[in-house]
Amino acid sequence: MKDSNCIFCKIANGEIPSNTIYEDDDFRVILDNGPATKGHALILPKEHYADLFELSDEAASKALIVAKKVSAQLKDKLNIDGLNVVQNNGETAGQTVKHFHIHLIPRYKNDGQHILWNPTEPSAEELVQIRDIING
Ligand code: AMP
Ligand code: ZN
Repeated sequence: MKDSNCIFCKIANGEIPSNTIYEDDDFRVILDNGPATKGHALILPKEHYADLFELSDEAASKALIVAKKVSAQLKDKLNIDGLNVVQNNGETAGQTVKHFHIHLIPRYKNDGQHILWNPTEPSAEELVQIRDIING
């Protein structure tokens, strides 16, 4: 299903032009227009899923194969030193466009980006507690 109010539905299905670097029946991969680094790309399914929680199993399994393929393309064509795969769900997690997408962010030595978190120091008991909540 497509969402007529969704900009990524329109881009993925070619109704709005984009800088496409890969396309198949199910996905379009475009250059992010506010890139963290040179070659920052977004994997967009052509169907509308708001986020990972809505994504179909079929699209989920295909998406990682596209990620692998396009990552190899970026590695081959740009002189990258590394690559981050980022995927945000919900405003709290930094999602600004409510159409599932995966960021492929090429990394270059001294590129000035910091795609990291601050590690916390839970006790062993706290880890067990959260494990049991999740498993319960
Ligand atoms: P997120 O914060 O994970 O929802 O990521 C949304 C990303 O989409 C941001 O990195 C934006 O720069 C990018 N973006 C938003 N609109 C467009 C657009 N029209 N074309 C290309 N990238 C876009
Ligand atoms: Zn959409």
